[in-house]
Amino acid sequence: MEWIQAKTILSGYAENNNWFGVNYNMNLYKGCNHGCIYCDSRSDCYRVENFDQVRGKENVLLILERELRSKRKTGVVGTGAMSDPYNPYEKEHQLTRSALELINRHGFGTSIATKSNLIVRDIDLLKKIAEHSPVLVKMTVTTADDSLCRIIEPNVSPSSDRLNAIRRLSEEGIFAGILMMPILPFIEDTEDNIKSIVELAHQSGARFIYPAFGMTLRQNQRDWYYGKLDQLFPGLKEKYLAAYGNAYECRSPRAKELWRCFRSGCDQYGILYRMGDIIRGYKEAYQVDQLSFF
Ligand code: SF4
Repeated sequence: MEWIQAKTILSGYAENNNWFGVNYNMNLYKGCNHGCIYCDSRSDCYRVENFDQVRGKENVLLILERELRSKRKTGVVGTGAMSDPYNPYEKEHQLTRSALELINRHGFGTSIATKSNLIVRDIDLLKKIAEHSPVLVKMTVTTADDSLCRIIEPNVSPSSDRLNAIRRLSEEGIFAGILMMPILPFIEDTEDNIKSIVELAHQSGARFIYPAFGMTLRQNQRDWYYGKLDQLFPGLKEKYLAAYGNAYECRSPRAKELWRCFRSGCDQYGILYRMGDIIRGYKEAYQVDQLSFF
């Protein structure tokens, strides 16, 4: 892994962020080598050259400590939007683990998106943070089928390991659930897949599933994805071109039926799926505690 220097790490404060109620964002690594064929972060607009090459930000912990100390408001620090914080190098270099130590020490909460079961290594720290601040773990699961998962998300833990990680986190009292997106049109958009994910989520103790029945495609990401379709699913690119042309939003033609079966499964098991409910679910206890001081 190469090292680069960071200038800043935390984004500005967002009061009522409607994306999981995250107040600050950070990326400890640049690029990701998990190889998901649909990855949006390789789009031109993000300007990450050689996306598949992971670069660690060498001075990031010094900067993070300084920035956490200087913030007037604590809040939830999100990570995992542009690269997976639990890439294979994290095992050795522990930037994410060290950042969580700082987040804990300075009284912030955290919201982590990942596809790697390496996150269970940090359960001890997540529990410490949860003693004073909200903690949310979003594990991306797009298919219940490990063999399909190894084709479309080849370099990271298969879905079954991710669900096991959710089970471990949930058993330890961490608010964990599933980011069920994207659901790739003509590949993953079957009722069987959606029902199986909901069932497995229930068995793993997932508190929520946040879904999207389709995908988005932007400049550069689209070329990469279509190249992968030609290689892995011959003939499918033509189906995409006929259905979506150059559209950004590529909604599954079965989105309505999928939503119905998803919602009825979640309702049956008491799994949250609306953003407002998920945010309330992982933050509410802390807001009540804060109010009780006054
Ligand atoms: S884990 Fe996330 S950032 Fe990494 S390749 Fe997959 S979609 Fe992209």
